[in-house]
Amino acid sequence: MNRRILNVFGAMCIGTAALMTSAIALAQDGTAQARFDQHRVVRVRIESANDLKLMAGLTSDMWSENYGIGGPVDFRLSPEAFETLKTTSLDYEVLISNLQDLIDAEQAHLRESNQGGIIAGDEWFTDFKSYDQISQQVNTLVADYPDLASRFSIGQSLEGREIFGLKITAPGGGDKAGVLYNSNQHAREWITPMVTMYIADRLLREYATNQEVQDLLSRCEFFIVPTVNPDGYVYSWTRNRMWRKNRRNNGGGSYGVDLNRNWSVGWGGEGSSGNRDSEIYRGPSAFSEPETQVMRDFILANPHIAAHVDFHSYSQLILWPWGYTGSAPPDASTFDRIGRELQSLIRGVHNKRYDQGQTYWSIYPASGVMPDWTYGEAGALGYTIELRDTGQYGFLLPANQILPNAEEIWPAALAFAWEVAPDVGMTLEIDPLFRGQQAEMRVSGAAPSTMVYFTYSLAGMGNTYVPVLDVTLDLMLPKLAGSDESDGSGNAAYMATVPANAPLILVWAQAAHYQRTSNVVATQINN
Ligand SMILES: [Zn+2]
Repeated sequence: MNRRILNVFGAMCIGTAALMTSAIALAQDGTAQARFDQHRVVRVRIESANDLKLMAGLTSDMWSENYGIGGPVDFRLSPEAFETLKTTSLDYEVLISNLQDLIDAEQAHLRESNQGGIIAGDEWFTDFKSYDQISQQVNTLVADYPDLASRFSIGQSLEGREIFGLKITAPGGGDKAGVLYNSNQHAREWITPMVTMYIADRLLREYATNQEVQDLLSRCEFFIVPTVNPDGYVYSWTRNRMWRKNRRNNGGGSYGVDLNRNWSVGWGGEGSSGNRDSEIYRGPSAFSEPETQVMRDFILANPHIAAHVDFHSYSQLILWPWGYTGSAPPDASTFDRIGRELQSLIRGVHNKRYDQGQTYWSIYPASGVMPDWTYGEAGALGYTIELRDTGQYGFLLPANQILPNAEEIWPAALAFAWEVAPDVGMTLEIDPLFRGQQAEMRVSGAAPSTMVYFTYSLAGMGNTYVPVLDVTLDLMLPKLAGSDESDGSGNAAYMATVPANAPLILVWAQAAHYQRTSNVVATQINN
């Protein structure tokens, strides 16, 4: 009996010790974490400037990415503020009835999942990961895939934390297009670094077996920057789960600049605030913050970056420039076409609907946002993707939605890169030709699964239009040697036999398929 009591007591001690360790880890300086008991998240129909003013008097924590008149806006309210809301004529709906319950559930899940050892693959995505855990995982991926992945440093945050990234590309190839996927400008959007890390993980994990990934990595360099705002992210883990901005001391007890209002294109305009306490405080000037400065410098130093997605949460949206003005961007039709494609790819995975459109009209005006800058100043196709959900959990998305959310983004992340992947063209190579022997003719860079025709000429270079292929061969009097259907990576080959009595003369060879030709190879038949 005594023994049993002792065992139970022992187990309790261990359990309590584990809890204590977590609590200490979560608040290293001994300061308690901010609590949100009975805080509600409400969706309010804003019909007028007065409605907005009323809500601004009740709370400074707007959960929607932007605010505007004539639509729903989400806010967090203290119990007292909620009582006041009930006395107004505002039309509202309660999305979350006790925010602290969701935070407690998230913390309990984290304590449980972090008791395991080193995990890899999908298992890493079964719970949210801290700044240090993400950094370690980047190192693990680089160690596991040294030929494909390398870690790079973008610079330091205000508090001196490293903003790091993972570069992923395959060796060889010509000029590659840069594809930038970054996340976590806003600290509390915990799902976002998980999704960009998932893209990195799958590019590396599938390279050996997925021909599309091989082909893409031979044409693109992926830059994955999981945490643009490490100070804010760490703060959201240790002190205040609802923190959004960076950790700039604005003076007078006010902290934080909204990094995604601090970029220079449209800086200071609609949908940003000059009030230091605002969640969308734009800072004293464009690029006043080290986090935006070093990201800007990194992008300018990599002018081949042609595609960019800035991941946020929540509300399931695909947004494109401009955010600061209602004028359509010069490439509106391209943005719209790609936006629709990404939308349908995302929907095809778990049937989640993401609306798409120009930021200014799809949500509300937002000035000084990153994709307006990557498009306007860096010439890249710049998108914002707002991840799950649509408000049921908001920033407190349950961990069991990390994988499904990441899975549904994966095909869109590939398709978007293909939009800028350079057409490497078709390259022909031929083995040396000897009388009476076989010689292989090979092409790479053909369209996948397409019939490739290997032609040659004994007469020399010229111009010969081939109507069925809609190509002009650079050969005079070309003859067909043979054909082969390309594989999924665009490789095809044909084994030609050189006649034993062939004259020892020059041969010109070229491959072609519908609307595409290779280089011409000139070679000599040898004895
Ligand atoms: Zn955001």
